[in-house]
Amino acid sequence: MSDPGLPPFMNDSAGGPPPMSGGSFAQSMGAFGALLKLQQNISERFPKSKVPWNETRKFLKANTIEAIRSTALYKFNVKLFGEIGLGNIQLISYAPMHYIFAVPNNPVCNFYPALNNQKVCAATTDALYRFFHEDLELECSVEEIECIKSGNEVCKFKVDLQPISAYQIMLDEYDRMILSGIRPPVDDTELKERVRVLTVYKLLDKGQLSEIGSAYMQFAASLQVEEKIFDPPWKIDDELSSIASNHNTFGGAFGEMAKKVQTSDPANAQANEPAINEETRKLQEEAKDTDSFAQLLAKMKNKKE
Ligand SMILES: [Zn+2]
Repeated sequence: MSDPGLPPFMNDSAGGPPPMSGGSFAQSMGAFGALLKLQQNISERFPKSKVPWNETRKFLKANTIEAIRSTALYKFNVKLFGEIGLGNIQLISYAPMHYIFAVPNNPVCNFYPALNNQKVCAATTDALYRFFHEDLELECSVEEIECIKSGNEVCKFKVDLQPISAYQIMLDEYDRMILSGIRPPVDDTELKERVRVLTVYKLLDKGQLSEIGSAYMQFAASLQVEEKIFDPPWKIDDELSSIASNHNTFGGAFGEMAKKVQTSDPANAQANEPAINEETRKLQEEAKDTDSFAQLLAKMKNKKE
């Protein structure tokens, strides 16, 4: 199927964002404008959204979907992506170092009115990568694994963290004391919780330093990175919205709208529950495979040489 008398379009099906050909000219230009606006929002917002390690640490240490969803960082991520124009992103599956986010009715799919039967949401993949990489300082890879445009119910994005960078931010001084065999000045409950998290992340095994833990500690000792302390980007946001909600103007109305969106959330979550469990189960199966940790060890050995 080719246009008579016109040279063929060059298509690159392997990698790169899909071309915005087809559809009416106005439709394509409208979609192109929306995509430009999105890119502009990202360029404006991401540099102002740096997150301090102490907040990322809470996100990384949370190891159930519910616990992750209740962190300030997760809520900020959802809000930021919504405001930028990336739709209502939500975490649906988790395994240590692996997260799957879903976007129902993904607006990014509409940027490619003429494309079907393929994954098109490179803008979301790119934004997730930039958020984790630039704002959280976490090395990671991001992939769109399902797309509404290829016939799936929602778009799904898988974020895989690189273990070394995740450990570096996740572990605080007390955790490193525990890994060195020193009891930090905390009560038994907190100590147990820390040991549990370190075990989930395979740094401890049955209360003992694991091979990974030992490799990491050697690696960490050679690394002097100072943790920068600053306010999280949502602090100003929280202050602004509290000011706005005290005024009976646009701010007040906006607050009401936000409340409505929030109350509709649990219902959505309920409806998605079977899908969540299935995804999570698959992801946890995958995470049991210690390949990524083996890779971590190999990398560390290389660094030491
Ligand atoms: Zn998609």
